[in-house]
Amino acid sequence: MPSPFDSLTSFANQKLAALEALHRRRHLVLSERGANMRIGNLISFTDNDYLGLSTDRRVIEAACAATESYGAGAGASRLITGNHPLYTALEEKLATLKGAEAAIVFGSGFMTNCGTIPALVGPQDVIFADALIHASLHAGIKLSGAAAYFFDHNDTSDLKRLLTTYRATGNRALLLVDGVYSMDGDQAPIQELASLAEAYDTWLMVDDAHGFGTLGGGKGTVAQAGETDRVPLMMGTLSKAVGAYGGYLAAPAPVIELMKSRARSLVYTTGLPPGVIAAALMALEIIESEPDRCARPLLLARRFTDALGLSRAESAIVPLPVGDDQSALAADHALQNLGFKVAAIRPPTVPKGTARLRVSFSATHSDADVETLITAVKDLKLNDPARSEDKQAS
Ligand SMILES: *Cc1c(COP(=O)(O)O)cnc(C)c1O
Repeated sequence: MPSPFDSLTSFANQKLAALEALHRRRHLVLSERGANMRIGNLISFTDNDYLGLSTDRRVIEAACAATESYGAGAGASRLITGNHPLYTALEEKLATLKGAEAAIVFGSGFMTNCGTIPALVGPQDVIFADALIHASLHAGIKLSGAAAYFFDHNDTSDLKRLLTTYRATGNRALLLVDGVYSMDGDQAPIQELASLAEAYDTWLMVDDAHGFGTLGGGKGTVAQAGETDRVPLMMGTLSKAVGAYGGYLAAPAPVIELMKSRARSLVYTTGLPPGVIAAALMALEIIESEPDRCARPLLLARRFTDALGLSRAESAIVPLPVGDDQSALAADHALQNLGFKVAAIRPPTVPKGTARLRVSFSATHSDADVETLITAVKDLKLNDPARSEDKQAS
C-alpha cells in the first residue's frame, strides 16, 4: 500500500523542483548578527534594525533583567495569566507616541494584521487596498472574508474610482495601506488617503512597520504627514526599528477594547516573553529621547541616493532595480565579495521582472560604511538605470 509519507514527500519534491527551475527556491542562510550592522566580516545593509536597538546595551540589559525576574516565557495567553504588568507600560507608551487613545500589543506585526482586520470587517463588508501592501495584510484580508479591491500603487485616482464603484456594495469599509512600502521605500500619500476615506465613510488603516522609529521624529509616517487625528487605525511592529519583537495597533479606546475579545491572534496565542516586552519598552524610551538617532537612517539613505543620482530616498529603504532574478542574485554575490550584505529581493515578494537589491540604512552605520557602499555600487554600476531596463526588455 502506498504510504502517505511517499505522496507527501513526492508532493514537496515536485514543488521544490518547480521553484528551483524558476530560480525561486528560498534558502535559510545562517547569520550571526553583531553590533553596528556587522554579520561576521560583512557590513549589513539589509536589516530592518533601523536604529541599531536590537544590539543596544540598554535594551539588552532591560531584556536580561526582566528575564531574570520573571522568567523566559509568558506561560499562557494574555487573557489567562500571560498579561504581565510590563504590557501596561508598553501600551501606554505606544499610545502616547502614536498620539492615539489606546494601543494593544500582539505577538508580531503579522499576527496584528491577521487579528485586527477580521475583527473589524467580515463578508458583508468591503476592503480597499494598495496593490503593494504587505503579505500580512493580505492574510488578514483573506481571514476576514470581505471582498477586496486593489488600487494601483499610490494612485489615489484609481482608489477613488474603486470607492465610487464598490463602496456601496459593502456595509463597513476598510482602506489598507503601508506607511512606507517595504520593498520600494516610498511613502503612502497619507493626506489624500485620509480625505478619500472620510469622503467615502471608510476606515483608514496604516501599516507603519517601516516608518515607526525612523520618520516623524520616530512617531512614524502618519505623524510626519501631520495627519494623526485623521488616521483611526495605526499598526506597526516592535521587530524593526524598535529592535525587539511584537506588533501593535494604536486606535480609539473602544477599538482596542474590542480586540481583547475579538482578535483571534491575540486571544488564542501565548503572551510575549517578559524580556521581549521590557526590551521594546526600553527601546521606545530611547526613540522618545534620541531624535538624532531616529533621523539618521533617512539622512544616510539620502546621502546614498544623492551620491548615486537615484531618486531621493523617502525612507531608510532604497531599492536598486536590477531586472531579472539571476541579475539580482549576481549583484548580491558581487556586493558580498566586496564586504557587504545586501539582500536580493525576487518574485513573488516583488512583481515579476522587478527583482531588486533592497538597501536599508541604520543609525549605527558609520559615515565610512555608507561611503564604501557608495563606491562599491558605483564600481559595479548598479546605479545605472539603463542596466535594469535592458534586463527587463530581454
Ligand atoms: C515586517 C512587516 C510586517 C510584519 O511584522 P513582524 O513583526 O515582522 O511580523 C507587517 N507589515 C509590514 C509592512 C512589514 O514590513
